[in-house]
Amino acid sequence: MKIICIGRNYEQHARELGNEIPTEPVIFLKPDSAIIQKNQPFFYPDFSNEVHHEVELVIKINRLGKHIPSKFAHKYYQEIGLGIDFTARDIQQVCKQKGLPWEKAKGFDGSAPLGKFIKKDQFEDINSINFHLDINGKTVQKGNTRNMIFSVDQLISHVSQFFTLKIGDLLFTGTPSGVGPVAIDDHLQCFIEDKLLLDFKVK
Ligand code: ZN
Repeated sequence: MKIICIGRNYEQHARELGNEIPTEPVIFLKPDSAIIQKNQPFFYPDFSNEVHHEVELVIKINRLGKHIPSKFAHKYYQEIGLGIDFTARDIQQVCKQKGLPWEKAKGFDGSAPLGKFIKKDQFEDINSINFHLDINGKTVQKGNTRNMIFSVDQLISHVSQFFTLKIGDLLFTGTPSGVGPVAIDDHLQCFIEDKLLLDFKVK
């Protein structure tokens, strides 16, 4: 399986990092070794001094597809969840300045904690889902999918022009504003509406 991630998909987040608003989705990948499941702890890596949290809606692909038209994209997923796109911001800054790829900053071991998945049909509209991240009991990031620059179905359509989507692939759909550093002993909890889907500690 592969993990496809979208960068800069919320205007306020693009602006907070000083990036331009993209005219097409920004795509990068993480390896499967990035995944942490079952609320296992995230171990702070020793190569970074600035690991940022990015809470994101995650789509689980359940059907093989290529060149998927946006109007059929909804047939390619039944379950949604939340994940953190941990980013070594200090390393990413160096990569960006040198025009190098981001993988070291984005795809390192443990950089993709994943929560429980839930059926999308519990929600009236995939384009109006609230989610948030609490750290140590305080909300630090809050998003609604209606504020995505490219909707879930548009992302699936775009991504599948380049990458064949396979059963079990994951799509991280971008983070809303409010990204910031995590520290050892932090307790992270991610919610869709009021459902707690991901709950883990930084060690
Ligand atoms: Zn992200």
